[in-house]
Amino acid sequence: MKNLDRRDFLKLSGSTLIGMTLGGVALRANAQEKLALDDPTAVALKYVHVSEVEGEYCDNCMYIQGEDGAEWRPCAIFPGKVVAAKGHCTAWMKKG
Ligand code: SF4
Repeated sequence: MKNLDRRDFLKLSGSTLIGMTLGGVALRANAQEKLALDDPTAVALKYVHVSEVEGEYCDNCMYIQGEDGAEWRPCAIFPGKVVAAKGHCTAWMKKG
């Protein structure tokens, strides 16, 4: 029984290691991380990846940055992160 537990444990750490390696590669390829819904600022501003407010989207908000038409773009409110073009948060302001 002890051996079995140990084998399972080793199997688990093996796949965890692979997952971490792949995650690291993905992060490097993608210099900016997608904003997580559980990021404290995202929670405070009720950020969502898909807006539920008609006509208010990250890509027509004054804080959006980066290229028009990109699916994920930087936002001045969340430095170092990218937000979904169709996302929304309570800091939304009409692009002037
Ligand atoms: S401030 Fe909020 S609504 Fe505006 S682009 Fe950033 S995350 Fe989207």
